[in-house]
Amino acid sequence: MMSRSALLWLSRREGLKDFATRFAPFRKLTTRFVAGETIDQAVSFIRQLNAENCTASFDHLNEAVASEAEAEREVQEYLDILRQITETRIRSNVSIKLTQFGLGLDPELAYRNARRVVAEAHARGNFVRVDMEDSAVTQLTIDIFKRLRAEFDLNDVGIVLQSYLYRTYADAEELVKLPARIRICKGAYNEPPEVAFPDKKDVDANYVRVMQLLLSSGYYHGIATHDPKMIDATLDFVSRAGIGKDKFEFQMLYGIRRDLQLQLARDGFNLRVYVPYGKHWYPYFMRRLAERPANVWFVLKNVLKG
Ligand SMILES: Cc1cc2nc3c(=O)[nH]c(=O)nc-3n(C[C@H](O)[C@H](O)[C@H](O)COP(=O)(O)OP(=O)(O)OC[C@H]3O[C@@H](n4cnc5c(N)ncnc54)[C@H](O)[C@@H]3O)c2cc1C
Repeated sequence: MMSRSALLWLSRREGLKDFATRFAPFRKLTTRFVAGETIDQAVSFIRQLNAENCTASFDHLNEAVASEAEAEREVQEYLDILRQITETRIRSNVSIKLTQFGLGLDPELAYRNARRVVAEAHARGNFVRVDMEDSAVTQLTIDIFKRLRAEFDLNDVGIVLQSYLYRTYADAEELVKLPARIRICKGAYNEPPEVAFPDKKDVDANYVRVMQLLLSSGYYHGIATHDPKMIDATLDFVSRAGIGKDKFEFQMLYGIRRDLQLQLARDGFNLRVYVPYGKHWYPYFMRRLAERPANVWFVLKNVLKG
């Protein structure tokens, strides 16, 4: 069976990306984790989610853009998404990646681009979540987020922290004091033992510690996981601490544990689904395979079937 790190390594291979994006049977499979190629397809899926009492977060798939012009197209796409959310009245916010806005080219460019999107969200009463990428950009991402947070309100912009990083508990303590709205997740990239817990049980234990810290703060945070153990730990904590269902939200990814998503929404919890769409699905798709290498069989079976 292919390992997590092999799949994460493949997720960064440009040659394979070009091949996979053009290979029709492979492209068809992306529907397992991706809501479509256009905003319209994502909007119609989000309408369904809203009808089932779930909210959403748009993600236009792209990362590590190669030019300022490409970063500019990403900004325009997000301005368009925000406009369409207002016009269609769907209940959704947006998630962005700073490397999508040019972080790898020039951090100031990424900051200026992110600022434009946050300003638009502010004007429209919406919210921008800054996703967290690999550890090479953790500090840069936090620094840019802090600048945005200094200029905009708590409910305009939030950030993501990953429980697999040793630094995360301290980051959560610092950021919550700003205050800031945080999404806690386990972390999806290939990280060395110098920066991240190699053992899943330590990642999980840290997740629970950070979740408790966040939910004790009284600010509205996102608990992003499909892991029933993390969800049970959250339910147990909020019931013991007397924290109301309206004070936080669970978040899950499009296409993963739909049963659990609907169950939590039916039980009256706030449930937000992260909805990725677009043509640049390859690295996102490969990270989803890496989370559950059994998914590779599903992919191979379907590619072979044609
Ligand atoms: C809303 C949201 C936003 C996220 N944003 C970021 C981010 O900004 N940065 C970042 O690094 N990571 C992000 N992630 C990904 C996250 O870091 C994890 O990689 C991912 O959520 C898997 O971890 P888990 O908590 O679900 O637990 P795991 O222990 O990995 O999985 C628990 C169970 O969930 C199910 N499951 C999990 N993943 C899959 C899958 N791919 N296919 C099928 N079943 C699966 C399985 O039943 C599995 O047993 C985000 C996740 C979510 C839900």
